[in-house]
Amino acid sequence: MILQGLTLESFRNYETLEIAFDPGVNLICGENAQGKTNLLEAAAYLSTATSHRARYDRELIRFGAERARIQALISAREREFRLEARLARGVRRQLLSNGVRLKTAGELSGVLHTVLFCPEDLYLIREGAAVRRRFLDTCICQLRPRYAAALAEYRRLYAHKTRILRDWPEKPALLDTLDEFSAGMARAGALIIHYRAHFVRRLGESAPPIHLDFSGGWERLSLRYQTVKTVGDPEAPPREILPRLLDHQAAHRRAELEARQCLSGPHKDDLEVLIEGQTAKTFASQGQTRTAALSLKLASREIFFQETGEWPVLLLDDVLSELDQRRQAFVLGRIEGGQVLITCCEADKQASMKSGRVFHIQNGRLI
Ligand code: ATP
Ligand code: MG
Repeated sequence: MILQGLTLESFRNYETLEIAFDPGVNLICGENAQGKTNLLEAAAYLSTATSHRARYDRELIRFGAERARIQALISAREREFRLEARLARGVRRQLLSNGVRLKTAGELSGVLHTVLFCPEDLYLIREGAAVRRRFLDTCICQLRPRYAAALAEYRRLYAHKTRILRDWPEKPALLDTLDEFSAGMARAGALIIHYRAHFVRRLGESAPPIHLDFSGGWERLSLRYQTVKTVGDPEAPPREILPRLLDHQAAHRRAELEARQCLSGPHKDDLEVLIEGQTAKTFASQGQTRTAALSLKLASREIFFQETGEWPVLLLDDVLSELDQRRQAFVLGRIEGGQVLITCCEADKQASMKSGRVFHIQNGRLI
Protein backbone atom coordinates (compact mmCIF):
# COMPACT_ATOMS: atom_id res chain seq x y z
CA MET A 1 0.00 0.00 0.00
CA ILE A 2 1.16 3.47 -0.82
CA LEU A 3 0.40 6.69 1.00
CA GLN A 4 0.16 9.02 -1.98
CA GLY A 5 -0.35 12.19 -0.04
CA LEU A 6 -1.51 13.77 3.16
CA THR A 7 -3.54 16.91 3.87
CA LEU A 8 -3.62 18.37 7.36
CA GLU A 9 -5.77 21.13 8.81
CA SER A 10 -5.11 22.45 12.31
CA PHE A 11 -3.28 19.25 13.24
CA ARG A 12 -0.64 19.79 15.99
CA ASN A 13 1.63 22.65 14.82
CA TYR A 14 0.34 22.52 11.21
CA GLU A 15 -2.16 25.14 10.19
CA THR A 16 -2.52 23.59 6.76
CA LEU A 17 -0.27 21.19 4.93
CA GLU A 18 -0.45 19.38 1.64
CA ILE A 19 2.25 16.89 0.92
CA ALA A 20 2.71 14.28 -1.84
CA PHE A 21 4.97 11.32 -1.06
CA ASP A 22 7.28 9.17 -3.12
CA PRO A 23 6.25 5.50 -3.33
CA GLY A 24 9.74 4.60 -2.07
CA VAL A 25 11.85 6.38 0.52
CA ASN A 26 10.81 9.77 1.91
CA LEU A 27 13.26 11.62 4.10
CA ILE A 28 11.64 14.28 6.30
CA CYS A 29 14.26 16.71 7.54
CA GLY A 30 14.11 19.63 9.90
CA GLU A 31 15.45 21.02 13.13
CA ASN A 32 14.02 20.01 16.48
CA ALA A 33 10.39 20.85 17.23
CA GLN A 34 9.43 21.73 13.64
CA GLY A 35 6.77 19.07 13.12
CA LYS A 36 8.52 15.97 11.76
CA THR A 37 7.13 13.56 14.32
CA ASN A 38 3.75 15.26 14.06
CA LEU A 39 3.67 14.34 10.39
CA LEU A 40 4.33 10.64 11.09
CA GLU A 41 1.79 10.76 13.89
CA ALA A 42 -0.85 12.01 11.45
CA ALA A 43 -0.11 9.16 9.03
CA ALA A 44 -0.20 6.59 11.85
CA TYR A 45 -3.47 8.00 13.15
CA LEU A 46 -5.17 7.21 9.86
CA SER A 47 -4.23 3.57 10.24
CA THR A 48 -4.98 2.98 13.92
CA ALA A 49 -7.11 5.94 15.07
CA THR A 50 -4.69 6.31 17.95
CA SER A 51 -1.51 8.20 18.57
CA HIS A 52 1.61 6.68 20.07
CA ARG A 53 2.10 9.72 22.27
CA ALA A 54 -1.22 11.51 22.75
CA ARG A 55 -3.55 10.22 25.41
CA TYR A 56 -6.54 12.19 24.12
CA ASP A 57 -7.52 13.17 20.59
CA ARG A 58 -7.87 16.78 21.68
CA GLU A 59 -4.08 17.00 22.09
CA LEU A 60 -3.80 16.59 18.33
CA ILE A 61 -5.87 19.69 17.59
CA ARG A 62 -3.82 22.81 17.01
CA PHE A 63 -3.70 25.16 20.01
CA GLY A 64 -6.53 27.67 19.71
CA ALA A 65 -8.39 25.71 17.00
CA GLU A 66 -11.73 23.95 17.52
CA ARG A 67 -11.27 21.10 15.06
CA ALA A 68 -8.62 19.28 13.09
CA ARG A 69 -8.69 17.18 9.97
CA ILE A 70 -6.31 14.58 8.55
CA GLN A 71 -6.90 13.34 5.02
CA ALA A 72 -4.92 10.89 2.95
CA LEU A 73 -5.01 9.38 -0.49
CA ILE A 74 -3.97 5.73 -0.40
CA SER A 75 -3.41 3.11 -3.07
CA ALA A 76 -4.13 -0.37 -1.75
CA ARG A 77 -5.44 -3.58 -3.30
CA GLU A 78 -5.21 -1.93 -6.73
CA ARG A 79 -7.71 0.73 -5.69
CA GLU A 80 -7.63 4.25 -4.37
CA PHE A 81 -9.01 5.21 -1.00
CA ARG A 82 -9.54 8.58 0.58
CA LEU A 83 -9.29 8.26 4.35
CA GLU A 84 -10.27 11.06 6.63
CA ALA A 85 -10.25 11.69 10.37
CA ARG A 86 -12.22 14.62 11.77
CA LEU A 87 -11.38 15.66 15.30
CA ALA A 88 -13.22 18.27 17.31
CA ARG A 89 -13.03 19.38 20.92
CA GLY A 90 -15.68 17.81 23.11
CA VAL A 91 -17.08 15.69 20.25
CA ARG A 92 -16.35 12.10 19.28
CA ARG A 93 -13.98 11.78 16.33
CA GLN A 94 -15.26 10.69 12.94
CA LEU A 95 -13.48 8.35 10.56
CA LEU A 96 -14.39 8.15 6.90
CA SER A 97 -13.29 6.07 3.95
CA ASN A 98 -14.24 7.46 0.53
CA GLY A 99 -16.78 9.69 2.27
CA VAL A 100 -18.50 6.84 4.14
CA ARG A 101 -18.44 6.85 7.96
CA LEU A 102 -16.57 3.88 9.42
CA LYS A 103 -18.15 2.03 12.32
CA THR A 104 -14.93 0.85 13.90
CA ALA A 105 -11.35 2.02 13.90
CA GLY A 106 -10.32 -1.51 12.92
CA GLU A 107 -11.63 -0.87 9.40
CA LEU A 108 -8.84 1.65 8.84
CA SER A 109 -6.04 -0.89 8.98
CA GLY A 110 -7.55 -2.78 6.04
CA VAL A 111 -6.84 0.28 3.90
CA LEU A 112 -3.76 1.82 5.48
CA HIS A 113 -1.48 -0.35 7.51
CA THR A 114 1.51 1.32 9.13
CA VAL A 115 4.45 0.08 11.17
CA LEU A 116 5.84 2.84 13.33
CA PHE A 117 9.23 2.81 14.98
CA CYS A 118 9.97 5.64 17.38
CA PRO A 119 12.48 6.29 20.16
CA GLU A 120 9.95 5.05 22.74
CA ASP A 121 10.12 1.60 21.16
CA LEU A 122 13.30 0.87 23.06
CA TYR A 123 10.86 0.03 25.86
CA LEU A 124 9.92 -2.99 23.80
CA ILE A 125 13.15 -4.58 24.98
CA ARG A 126 13.75 -2.77 28.25
CA GLU A 127 10.40 -2.64 30.03
CA GLY A 128 8.11 -5.22 31.57
CA ALA A 129 6.14 -7.87 29.73
CA ALA A 130 3.05 -5.69 29.21
CA VAL A 131 4.78 -3.72 26.44
CA ARG A 132 5.71 -6.87 24.54
CA ARG A 133 2.24 -8.34 24.96
CA ARG A 134 0.82 -5.13 23.52
CA PHE A 135 3.19 -5.41 20.56
CA LEU A 136 2.08 -9.00 19.90
CA ASP A 137 -1.58 -8.14 20.35
CA THR A 138 -1.45 -5.17 17.98
CA CYS A 139 0.26 -7.22 15.28
CA ILE A 140 -1.99 -10.27 15.55
CA CYS A 141 -5.23 -8.27 15.83
CA GLN A 142 -4.50 -6.68 12.49
CA LEU A 143 -4.04 -10.07 10.85
CA ARG A 144 -6.63 -12.21 12.63
CA PRO A 145 -10.10 -10.86 13.45
CA ARG A 146 -10.77 -14.03 15.46
CA TYR A 147 -7.87 -13.16 17.71
CA ALA A 148 -9.15 -9.63 18.23
CA ALA A 149 -12.53 -11.04 19.26
CA ALA A 150 -10.97 -13.56 21.67
CA LEU A 151 -8.80 -10.87 23.20
CA ALA A 152 -11.75 -8.53 23.72
CA GLU A 153 -13.71 -11.37 25.35
CA TYR A 154 -10.76 -12.31 27.55
CA ARG A 155 -10.34 -8.70 28.73
CA ARG A 156 -14.03 -8.40 29.51
CA LEU A 157 -14.02 -11.58 31.62
CA TYR A 158 -10.73 -10.63 33.25
CA ALA A 159 -12.23 -7.33 34.42
CA HIS A 160 -15.23 -9.19 35.93
CA LYS A 161 -13.12 -11.83 37.60
CA THR A 162 -10.78 -9.19 39.00
CA ARG A 163 -13.76 -7.45 40.61
CA ILE A 164 -15.04 -10.70 42.09
CA LEU A 165 -11.65 -11.53 43.57
CA ARG A 166 -11.29 -8.03 44.93
CA ASP A 167 -14.73 -7.86 46.57
CA TRP A 168 -15.51 -11.43 47.63
CA PRO A 169 -14.57 -11.12 51.33
CA GLU A 170 -17.19 -8.37 51.69
CA LYS A 171 -19.73 -10.01 49.34
CA PRO A 172 -19.21 -13.81 49.46
CA ALA A 173 -22.19 -14.38 47.11
CA LEU A 174 -19.99 -13.16 44.28
CA LEU A 175 -18.10 -16.44 44.44
CA ASP A 176 -21.06 -18.25 42.87
CA THR A 177 -20.05 -16.97 39.43
CA LEU A 178 -16.28 -17.16 39.85
CA ASP A 179 -15.79 -20.54 38.16
CA GLU A 180 -17.96 -19.52 35.24
CA PHE A 181 -15.75 -16.52 34.55
CA SER A 182 -12.63 -18.63 34.95
CA ALA A 183 -13.91 -21.18 32.43
CA GLY A 184 -14.69 -18.43 29.91
CA MET A 185 -11.23 -16.99 30.37
CA ALA A 186 -9.68 -20.40 29.78
CA ARG A 187 -11.63 -20.83 26.52
CA ALA A 188 -10.65 -17.42 25.16
CA GLY A 189 -7.16 -17.83 26.64
CA ALA A 190 -6.54 -21.09 24.78
CA LEU A 191 -7.16 -19.32 21.50
CA ILE A 192 -4.98 -16.37 22.49
CA ILE A 193 -2.08 -18.64 23.42
CA HIS A 194 -2.38 -20.63 20.20
CA TYR A 195 -2.29 -17.50 18.02
CA ARG A 196 0.48 -15.85 20.00
CA ALA A 197 2.64 -18.98 19.79
CA HIS A 198 2.22 -19.12 16.01
CA PHE A 199 2.98 -15.46 15.60
CA VAL A 200 6.07 -15.67 17.83
CA ARG A 201 7.33 -18.59 15.74
CA ARG A 202 7.00 -16.50 12.59
CA LEU A 203 8.66 -13.53 14.27
CA GLY A 204 11.39 -15.92 15.32
CA GLU A 205 11.91 -16.83 11.67
CA SER A 206 11.90 -13.26 10.30
CA ALA A 207 13.58 -11.18 13.01
CA PRO A 208 16.92 -13.03 13.45
CA PRO A 209 18.11 -12.64 9.82
CA ILE A 210 17.25 -8.93 9.99
CA HIS A 211 19.10 -8.54 13.25
CA LEU A 212 22.08 -10.51 11.92
CA ASP A 213 22.36 -8.26 8.85
CA PHE A 214 21.92 -5.20 10.98
CA SER A 215 24.73 -6.18 13.33
CA GLY A 216 27.09 -6.95 10.44
CA GLY A 217 26.73 -10.71 10.89
CA TRP A 218 27.72 -10.66 14.55
CA GLU A 219 24.66 -11.11 16.69
CA ARG A 220 22.14 -13.89 16.81
CA LEU A 221 18.72 -12.88 18.04
CA SER A 222 16.26 -15.44 19.30
CA LEU A 223 12.76 -15.27 20.74
CA ARG A 224 10.98 -17.35 23.32
CA TYR A 225 7.29 -17.30 24.05
CA GLN A 226 6.52 -17.64 27.74
CA THR A 227 3.02 -18.57 28.74
CA VAL A 228 1.10 -20.51 31.38
CA LYS A 229 3.47 -23.17 32.73
CA THR A 230 1.17 -26.16 32.33
CA VAL A 231 0.88 -25.57 28.57
CA GLY A 232 3.52 -27.86 27.07
CA ASP A 233 2.90 -27.03 23.42
CA PRO A 234 1.40 -23.56 22.96
CA GLU A 235 1.10 -24.12 19.21
CA ALA A 236 -1.27 -27.05 19.76
CA PRO A 237 -4.93 -26.58 18.78
CA PRO A 238 -6.89 -24.52 21.35
CA ARG A 239 -8.97 -27.55 22.38
CA GLU A 240 -5.75 -29.24 23.55
CA ILE A 241 -4.55 -26.13 25.37
CA LEU A 242 -7.86 -25.63 27.20
CA PRO A 243 -7.56 -28.53 29.71
CA ARG A 244 -4.00 -27.44 30.56
CA LEU A 245 -5.30 -23.95 31.38
CA LEU A 246 -8.09 -25.38 33.52
CA ASP A 247 -5.50 -27.45 35.42
CA HIS A 248 -3.45 -24.37 36.10
CA GLN A 249 -6.50 -22.40 37.22
CA ALA A 250 -7.56 -25.19 39.58
CA ALA A 251 -4.08 -25.33 41.10
CA HIS A 252 -4.13 -21.56 41.64
CA ARG A 253 -7.74 -21.10 42.75
CA ARG A 254 -6.86 -20.81 46.41
CA ALA A 255 -3.93 -18.52 45.78
CA GLU A 256 -6.15 -16.26 43.67
CA LEU A 257 -8.73 -16.01 46.46
CA GLU A 258 -6.01 -15.18 48.97
CA ALA A 259 -4.19 -12.71 46.74
CA ARG A 260 -7.54 -11.31 45.51
CA GLN A 261 -6.04 -11.14 42.03
CA CYS A 262 -6.12 -13.13 38.77
CA LEU A 263 -2.91 -15.14 38.83
CA SER A 264 -3.53 -17.68 36.10
CA GLY A 265 -3.83 -16.97 32.39
CA PRO A 266 -2.16 -15.49 29.31
CA HIS A 267 -2.49 -11.94 30.71
CA LYS A 268 0.89 -12.74 32.25
CA ASP A 269 2.56 -13.93 29.01
CA ASP A 270 5.88 -12.58 27.84
CA LEU A 271 8.01 -12.59 24.74
CA GLU A 272 11.57 -13.15 25.80
CA VAL A 273 14.13 -11.55 23.50
CA LEU A 274 17.62 -13.02 23.60
CA ILE A 275 20.83 -11.88 21.97
CA GLU A 276 23.47 -14.57 21.75
CA GLY A 277 21.39 -16.53 24.23
CA GLN A 278 21.33 -13.78 26.88
CA THR A 279 18.17 -11.96 27.91
CA ALA A 280 18.24 -8.64 26.07
CA LYS A 281 16.18 -6.92 28.76
CA THR A 282 18.99 -7.38 31.26
CA PHE A 283 22.14 -7.51 29.18
CA ALA A 284 21.75 -5.65 25.87
CA SER A 285 23.64 -2.41 25.24
CA GLN A 286 21.88 0.71 24.01
CA GLY A 287 22.77 -0.04 20.40
CA GLN A 288 21.76 -3.69 20.67
CA THR A 289 18.48 -2.70 22.25
CA ARG A 290 17.72 -0.35 19.38
CA THR A 291 18.73 -2.94 16.80
CA ALA A 292 16.64 -5.68 18.41
CA ALA A 293 13.55 -3.46 18.72
CA LEU A 294 13.85 -2.35 15.11
CA SER A 295 14.36 -5.95 13.96
CA LEU A 296 11.13 -6.97 15.68
CA LYS A 297 9.22 -4.15 14.00
CA LEU A 298 10.69 -4.88 10.58
CA ALA A 299 9.90 -8.57 11.05
CA SER A 300 6.26 -7.75 11.82
CA ARG A 301 6.22 -5.77 8.59
CA GLU A 302 7.52 -8.76 6.63
CA ILE A 303 4.91 -11.05 8.15
CA PHE A 304 2.18 -8.62 7.16
CA PHE A 305 3.54 -8.64 3.63
CA GLN A 306 3.65 -12.45 3.50
CA GLU A 307 0.04 -12.57 4.67
CA THR A 308 -1.51 -9.89 2.51
CA GLY A 309 0.87 -9.30 -0.41
CA GLU A 310 1.08 -5.61 0.51
CA TRP A 311 3.87 -3.82 2.32
CA PRO A 312 2.73 -1.70 5.27
CA VAL A 313 3.92 1.89 5.18
CA LEU A 314 6.96 2.08 7.43
CA LEU A 315 7.25 5.17 9.64
CA LEU A 316 10.68 5.59 11.19
CA ASP A 317 11.06 8.42 13.67
CA ASP A 318 14.58 9.44 14.63
CA VAL A 319 16.30 6.14 13.88
CA LEU A 320 19.06 7.37 11.62
CA SER A 321 20.60 9.90 13.96
CA GLU A 322 22.07 7.26 16.26
CA LEU A 323 23.27 4.87 13.60
CA ASP A 324 26.62 4.72 11.88
CA GLN A 325 26.89 4.90 8.06
CA ARG A 326 26.69 1.15 7.56
CA ARG A 327 23.61 0.74 9.73
CA GLN A 328 21.95 3.70 8.06
CA ALA A 329 22.59 2.12 4.69
CA PHE A 330 21.11 -1.08 6.05
CA VAL A 331 17.92 0.66 7.17
CA LEU A 332 17.56 2.46 3.88
CA GLY A 333 18.27 -0.75 1.95
CA ARG A 334 16.02 -3.09 3.93
CA ILE A 335 12.95 -1.12 3.02
CA GLU A 336 13.23 -1.15 -0.73
CA GLY A 337 10.19 -3.41 -0.86
CA GLY A 338 7.71 -0.80 0.28
CA GLN A 339 7.17 2.80 1.18
CA VAL A 340 8.93 4.45 4.07
CA LEU A 341 8.82 7.83 5.77
CA ILE A 342 11.92 8.62 7.82
CA THR A 343 12.50 11.69 9.93
CA CYS A 344 15.94 13.07 10.66
CA CYS A 345 17.61 16.28 11.70
CA GLU A 346 20.20 16.65 8.95
CA ALA A 347 19.63 16.57 5.21
CA ASP A 348 23.02 14.96 4.52
CA LYS A 349 21.50 11.54 5.23
CA GLN A 350 20.27 11.56 1.67
CA ALA A 351 23.78 10.45 0.70
CA SER A 352 22.78 6.89 1.70
CA MET A 353 19.54 7.06 -0.30
CA LYS A 354 19.41 5.40 -3.67
CA SER A 355 16.21 7.10 -4.70
CA GLY A 356 13.25 8.88 -3.17
CA ARG A 357 12.29 12.33 -2.06
CA VAL A 358 13.54 14.75 0.59
CA PHE A 359 11.28 17.20 2.43
CA HIS A 360 12.23 20.07 4.68
CA ILE A 361 9.88 21.00 7.48
CA GLN A 362 10.13 24.30 9.31
CA ASN A 363 7.71 25.48 11.95
CA GLY A 364 4.79 23.43 10.64
CA ARG A 365 5.43 24.28 7.00
CA LEU A 366 6.89 22.47 4.04
CA ILE A 367 9.69 24.56 2.54
P1 ATP B 1 12.41 16.63 17.15
O1 ATP B 1 13.50 16.67 16.11
O2 ATP B 1 12.84 17.31 18.39
O3 ATP B 1 11.85 15.28 17.39
P2 ATP B 1 9.99 17.29 15.63
O4 ATP B 1 10.20 18.05 14.37
O5 ATP B 1 9.74 15.85 15.53
O6 ATP B 1 11.22 17.58 16.59
P3 ATP B 1 7.34 17.50 16.71
O7 ATP B 1 7.33 16.50 17.80
O8 ATP B 1 6.72 17.12 15.44
O9 ATP B 1 8.84 18.01 16.43
O10 ATP B 1 6.66 18.82 17.34
C1 ATP B 1 6.74 20.09 16.76
C2 ATP B 1 6.04 21.11 17.63
O11 ATP B 1 4.65 20.89 17.64
C3 ATP B 1 6.46 21.19 19.08
O12 ATP B 1 7.14 22.41 19.32
C4 ATP B 1 5.16 21.17 19.85
O13 ATP B 1 5.14 22.12 20.88
C5 ATP B 1 4.15 21.51 18.79
N1 ATP B 1 2.82 21.02 19.11
C6 ATP B 1 2.48 19.84 19.66
N2 ATP B 1 1.14 19.72 19.81
C7 ATP B 1 0.62 20.89 19.34
C8 ATP B 1 -0.71 21.39 19.22
N3 ATP B 1 -1.75 20.66 19.61
N4 ATP B 1 -0.88 22.62 18.68
C9 ATP B 1 0.19 23.34 18.28
N5 ATP B 1 1.46 22.93 18.38
C10 ATP B 1 1.68 21.71 18.88
MG1 MG C 1 10.47 14.23 16.56
